[in-house]
Amino acid sequence: VTLLAIESSCDETSCAISRDEVILSNIIAGQAVHEQYGGVVPELASRAHMQNIVPVVDAALKKAGVSISELTAIAFTQSPGLIGSLLVGSQFAKSLAQALDIPLLSVHHMQAHVLANLIVPASAARSAASSPVASTSTAASPGPASPASREAARPSFPFLCLTVSGGHTQIVLCHSPLKMEVIGETLDDAAGEAFDKSAKLLGLPYPGGPLIDKYAREGDAGRFPFPEPQIPGLNFSFSGLKTAILYFLQENVAKDAGFVAANLPDICASIQGRIISILLNKYRKAARETGVTDLCIAGGVSANSGLRKAFGEMGRNNGWNTFIPPFEYCTDNAAMIAITGYYKYLAGEFAPLSVSASARAEW
Ligand code: ATP
Ligand code: MG
Ligand code: FE
Repeated sequence: VTLLAIESSCDETSCAISRDEVILSNIIAGQAVHEQYGGVVPELASRAHMQNIVPVVDAALKKAGVSISELTAIAFTQSPGLIGSLLVGSQFAKSLAQALDIPLLSVHHMQAHVLANLIVPASAARSAASSPVASTSTAASPGPASPASREAARPSFPFLCLTVSGGHTQIVLCHSPLKMEVIGETLDDAAGEAFDKSAKLLGLPYPGGPLIDKYAREGDAGRFPFPEPQIPGLNFSFSGLKTAILYFLQENVAKDAGFVAANLPDICASIQGRIISILLNKYRKAARETGVTDLCIAGGVSANSGLRKAFGEMGRNNGWNTFIPPFEYCTDNAAMIAITGYYKYLAGEFAPLSVSASARAEW
């Protein structure tokens, strides 16, 4: 099954080509235009998608060495996201499916972030094919660790996924590729927003998450203990943390105008440390309550180096298997749309050409 997949829910225009579970190419065009505004401007995002989509699709086909006549179906992000952005990708996908007379697969962006954990990168597939050890091992039993089999190791069902992105923070229980339930989520800001809003308070450019990560590496996370909210069950809250940081900065800057510049690494490490502990305390609880032992993370914030490290340690300390998608499949990308489209194709879940994009939707 050879798929062409398109992602355009926010400010990344992306196209991927896949063959079954293997990703042959995954081209992502970002949009620098939003930096000067400190956040994504929807109108500018749709315009940039229109400029980017044809070159991005061309590049993905070329890199994969696939011609459009070889395509089995077209997958696209139908929801959720910015409506103007979604419309560009969905119209393109629908036109292409109609022109080629092949099926259309509509994909939920948050389900796709989760399934990024099942992607087999082309490099892993190639080395598995050339190595007898890895080619006989399955996902369930990766076998003695050759680098190839380790790279190809994937979670087995049921697994949990902590999806942490710019707009969402969810703990998802996955029974099968297309059967998932959200068992915990944020009541206010998303984890990515907590990073970006904190960074903004520190005067850092948008998106600030990666910059907090960078400064935090040199800092002491124990220096400024920000409060941890007490939220029942498996839900999260980040708005109290944002307010605590605001007051903390106001108070200290009033006393010393150079406070932020002089303490940036420690402030970043302390903010990042608290966001990570909020996330992992709930994730640990979810794993204990469900008894599930294969744990994944997904979404843009799973690129965070502190979270990756702490998540791995949590797994080792509790005897759980932990999985993190390769970096390029963490933030918005079409490879995750391709793998989700592949499972929908196998299940025969096709979309009619009348399907329309929607800003919000249930799974
Ligand atoms: P959604 O998927 O919920 O619609 P989105 O697609 O905008 O939101 P992603 O692209 O998955 O979200 O992730 C973007 C977020 O990830 C931003 O908030 C960004 O700051 C954050 N992020 C990226 N890298 C890092 C990092 N290294 N540390 C912390 N945050 C990061
Ligand atoms: Mg983005
Ligand atoms: Fe996303």
